[in-house]
Order: sequence, then C-alpha cells, then structure tokens
Amino acid sequence: MRMTRASTEKSRSQQVIERRDFQLLLDALMAKGYRLIGPRARDGALVYDEIAAVADLPVGLTDEQERGTYRLKAGDPERLFGCGLGPHSWKKYLYPPELRLWQAQRQNGNMTIVPEPHAPERLALIGMRACEIQALAVLDKVLLGGAYVDRAYQAQREQVLVVAVNCGRAGKTCFCASMNSGPRASTGFDLALTEVLERDRHYFVVESGSKVGADVLSAVPTSPALEADLQKANAIIEQTAGQMGRSLDTHRLQEMLYASTESPVWDEVAARCLTCGNCTLVCPTCFCTTVEDYTDLTGETGSRVRRWDSCFTMDFSYIVGGHVRASARARYRQWMMHKLATWKDQFGTSGCVGCGRCITWCPVGIDITEEAQTIRAQNEAKQDTGTRRKKTS
Ligand code: SF4
Ligand code: SF4
Repeated sequence: MRMTRASTEKSRSQQVIERRDFQLLLDALMAKGYRLIGPRARDGALVYDEIAAVADLPVGLTDEQERGTYRLKAGDPERLFGCGLGPHSWKKYLYPPELRLWQAQRQNGNMTIVPEPHAPERLALIGMRACEIQALAVLDKVLLGGAYVDRAYQAQREQVLVVAVNCGRAGKTCFCASMNSGPRASTGFDLALTEVLERDRHYFVVESGSKVGADVLSAVPTSPALEADLQKANAIIEQTAGQMGRSLDTHRLQEMLYASTESPVWDEVAARCLTCGNCTLVCPTCFCTTVEDYTDLTGETGSRVRRWDSCFTMDFSYIVGGHVRASARARYRQWMMHKLATWKDQFGTSGCVGCGRCITWCPVGIDITEEAQTIRAQNEAKQDTGTRRKKTS
C-alpha cells in the first residue's frame, strides 16, 4: 500500500512520537513545571504515583483480572502501557481521601478559624484511560456543576493536564463500550496516545486535544502521522472495543431498576455482600465523604477533616437516632440504584463508566453487570407472566 502524508483535518492534528523519544515527552512536561503522576507497579498491583522516567512505568507488564481476582504478570517486554486499570483511580489527586477543611485556634478566650490554603499543584496525569476521563467528567458535574462548588477540587482540576492512553487491550471486567465511555479517548484530554508495537518499530500516535497539549508536543521530536500509522492505531482501538470482558444492557435500565425496588435479587446479593465498601473505594466516581472534628488535649486548637466514606458503612446512613439503611440489602440496592439510575436524575449522566474495578476488587466477586442482568431477566419474566394472564382472562 502506498503511504501518503495524512491530509485530513483529523490526521493533521496527529503526530508520531518514536519510543526512543518518549522520555523527551516526560521531560517536556517536567520542564513546564508539571509533577508527573502515572502508573507504576507496586506490591503486586498497578498504582498511580509520581513518575519521572520511562523506567518508572510498568514496562513489560500486563494484568489478569476477573471477578475478585487481580494479578500482574509478564506481557510484551517492550510495552509501556500493557496493564489495564489497577485499584487506584485518579480521583485521589483531585478529591483526596483525607482533606483538612480548616483549623481553629483559641486566642485570648476567642476562637479564630484558620482556613486551609488548598494550594493546587500542576499535575500531568500520564496514562489516563477513556473511561477514567469520563469518570472525571462525571465528578466535574457532581462537584462543580451544582449550586455548591467544591473549591478544593475546582482549584486542583484547573491545574491538571491529561495525557490519555487509548486502550490496546480490554480487561475481562471492562465494559466501557456498553457505557459509551471508551476504549477511545475522544474528549477531555490534552494529549492522547495510542501505543503501536511492531516487530521492528515501537511508536505512539499522538493527538493534541488542547492548546496546552499542542505546546507540550512542540517541544518533543515528532513526525506527522502517516495514514498507515492512523490505520494501525484505529485498528488497535477497534479491536479493544470488540474484546470487552463484560457488557451491560443499558436499554431502559433506569426504568427497569425503578420497577425492581422490591426484587428478591437484593436479598440474594445481600447474602454474599460483606458490606466492606471496597467497590465504593475503588470506584472513580464515588464521592461520598464524612466530616470529623478533632481537638488537641489542651483544647487550644481544633480541626475539621473531610474523609472518603462509603454508603456501605452503617454510620453513613445514621440520622437522628437510627440507621436509614440498616441491612446489606438496603445498602447494596442504594449503591447500585445510585450508580445506574438515580445518578441520572441527580446529575444527568450515569454514575458508572464501566471501568470494572468494583467487579475485580469485590472480595466475593459480586458483579454489577450480572446483577443488572438478573434483575432485567426477572423483570421481563414478570412482564411476560402479566401479559399471559391478561390474554387468558
Ligand atoms: S459488593 Fe463486594 S466490594 Fe461492595 S461492599 Fe459488597 S462485598 Fe464489598
Ligand atoms: S460502578 Fe464499578 S464499573 Fe462502574 S465506574 Fe464504579 S467501579 Fe467502575
């Protein structure tokens, strides 16, 4: 096939970075004052942490995921982004697990409130996947889109640069294709990379999604993407879309869940659920928090701290002398209903982006896609019975 310089608008905005120059991309970001956060292998899992060099990435590793199962293992020895998602999500950098909101000091018999400065840092998030970008968009709606803006989140969000990586492989618990959130990053990034690894060449097709991204790219050796490069990158993403380990039928899902509030499925899942809250802690969109106040022993200083909480804890639904959701049945139903149904009413989007983390990291392997399918099947069976009864009467 004859190779031509790509001539469409789309292809003009795409470049190629050779693998040997990838470090120069990281260097260019650091030179612009960004602290780099990216995937690293630690304690047998992929985590997000500070990186500075290509060698910090999980080079040559891949993972194996299934319900309640996660293993890192050897993959293509040269590949930089061969691992899927680990237990961390990027929200910890924008919406930290623990945040001091203010301190108070007693001075001359009066209490003075000392606000926290919440100094944001310039962060470049390297390797964000399409579903995680969608999760950030969901958090933006929740934390920035209403009457009460989360100022700490807002300040940090404005300092974030996103270097996305289009997925070259779907995990067995992934279902982003069902949720229209991946595997291609189509918006919300400054740069988006597709890793192409061939026998004799290793390179990245890179697309700029913002002026900031284009500026960074201008400091890195690149060449214009050829049509053949674009075709290879597209083929990789399309192949990933066809490999999803899970799927979720979203047709009338919200309506169906609302019709199933008393379904026996909630009892069945409650018999397995440990109410450990793992699913909420690994979820990139869960945002529930609690607030705790502390004082020192002298009572001279105090502070108020916000911490991640979970709708699976008993205390989370404690209101004026009672637990609103005292049973595991009520708590699992609340979580799943919120993700797939009530979130839409509240924020206009699904609360689930199909990342699959809650399936992988549930210690007893409860699978949100399977529970939704069971509810759908029961719902449809109920409707069939109703229709048959009508016909015979
Ligand atoms: S569904 Fe799984 S991860 Fe979530 S609370 Fe229950 S046991 Fe824990
Ligand atoms: S509910 Fe599960 S699959 Fe959906 S976004 Fe949260 S962790 Fe990912």
